[in-house]
Amino acid sequence: MDDESLDVESKIETPDLSCPKCGGLLPAQLGEIECVLCDAHVKVDHPPTRRAWVAEKIRCKTCSSLLLVGVDKRPANLQCSSCESQFIVTPHIPKAEVQCPSCDRKMRLSKRPGSRQISCPACSISFKVSF
Ligand SMILES: [Zn+2]
Ligand SMILES: [Zn+2]
Ligand SMILES: [Zn+2]
Repeated sequence: MDDESLDVESKIETPDLSCPKCGGLLPAQLGEIECVLCDAHVKVDHPPTRRAWVAEKIRCKTCSSLLLVGVDKRPANLQCSSCESQFIVTPHIPKAEVQCPSCDRKMRLSKRPGSRQISCPACSISFKVSF
């Protein structure tokens, strides 16, 4: 976590969606989404997630007030009604557990679509992860 930033990650997960064209994982967003794997443009909506976003409560990192977000999209700009600090509620990035193929160490990575080269913090071999 980046302590410099006042941004707060949303706790509301979007459903795991796959691209209708290539079957790959889509970014955890709603609305117009561009598949990072095949460049297809997909329109995705999920009313229960939108309702949960509107009703989500976030704690202000500056004064700890509990704030109602009240916005049906992420990222959402928010201003604290108590201390007036401004911050952004960023989309929830799902985490996935992967295991190092060499030393079996488990790591939690953010589940972004596509392939990435990861290096193991324990044995420093590098391996490829794709979602
Ligand atoms: Zn695709
Ligand atoms: Zn505040
Ligand atoms: Zn390892």
